[in-house]
Amino acid sequence: MNIAEIEGETKGIDVTVKIVSLKQAETKKSSSQGVYYYGILGDETGTMPFTAWNFPTTLRQGDIVEIRNCSVGKYNDSLRIYVDSRSEVLLKPEAEMNVKRVYRNYKIKNITPKDLYISVEGKVSDVIKKNYEKDGSSREVTYFTLSDDTGSIRVSSFGREIMEGRTVKIEGAKVSEYNGRYRLTIFENTPVIMIDKAFDTGKTYDISDVNGPVDQISLAGFAIAISDRSGLLRRCNTCRKMLDDVRCPDHPDDGFFLDLFASFILTDGSGEMHSTCGKAVLSKLLSLGEQDLDPMKTRLTKREVLESLKKALYGRPFLMKGDAVQGENNLNYRVKEITELDEKGISKLLLEMEADLA
Ligand SMILES: [Zn+2]
Repeated sequence: MNIAEIEGETKGIDVTVKIVSLKQAETKKSSSQGVYYYGILGDETGTMPFTAWNFPTTLRQGDIVEIRNCSVGKYNDSLRIYVDSRSEVLLKPEAEMNVKRVYRNYKIKNITPKDLYISVEGKVSDVIKKNYEKDGSSREVTYFTLSDDTGSIRVSSFGREIMEGRTVKIEGAKVSEYNGRYRLTIFENTPVIMIDKAFDTGKTYDISDVNGPVDQISLAGFAIAISDRSGLLRRCNTCRKMLDDVRCPDHPDDGFFLDLFASFILTDGSGEMHSTCGKAVLSKLLSLGEQDLDPMKTRLTKREVLESLKKALYGRPFLMKGDAVQGENNLNYRVKEITELDEKGISKLLLEMEADLA
């Protein structure tokens, strides 16, 4: 039987499949101590997850096996192949098989590493090529941003050519988490299909609708609770660590540079979001120039900068653009752009905040 032919729960079927992924786990039930296996099986027609209570320990990912007398049951609303003591698993060392993978389509904001391989559509931007060393030879990796109407995500492409500005559908991108952000990885053989579709990027969200990491989203709201750590700070020239003093404990002779930083809570009536921003945003907001941040020339004090930051941020509604990144305890909004809300944006925000108070 082919995987595509399996339409519902059934018993006593035979399949010839490739082991696409294979993991081992221990049963926690005290009644049946032991090891079981799970993963994905596939053939030329599709893939299906499986659980094996009884499985030869010599089998590896990529092996092709004939499984006799297995059953198909439902688990979490999807069909799954079950292999138990009544089943027979035979390795087919000579066989070859191209597995047809079917991936779930995701909007960028809903991507989660719980689904390891996914399909996704979006527009390509910020293409950067870099070389890296592997096995003694230099290879190229292409990084780019993929954006749809819900957000953006960074993609690393190993060996797959990607054109700036194109709109594509990627089938089977690998999802991973890196420094609190989600990322996609594609390889030479990952299908990347050109599509003709326009995406309305830069959507403004209600804070309560942002529940996981996603890049390049807009939030409108008021800054509250600006942290006193905000403002002017010194960083080591070498390791960039924030310094309490003028000397870095690790690089006391290397000097420091001045930097700007702000940490605050953004609120829009629907929720609150921890937010931070850096020099690029703040020097513009506070109209500070190169001179002001030159340790030899500046006349600014830490207190003055914190005061003017509070004056600039408090009580005014802003439209912010940035990335939601998973921190240790909560999502953190890394703000990359702050603009004052226009009239229309202000009335919408105020209406929402009143509705929330009512
Ligand atoms: Zn240092």
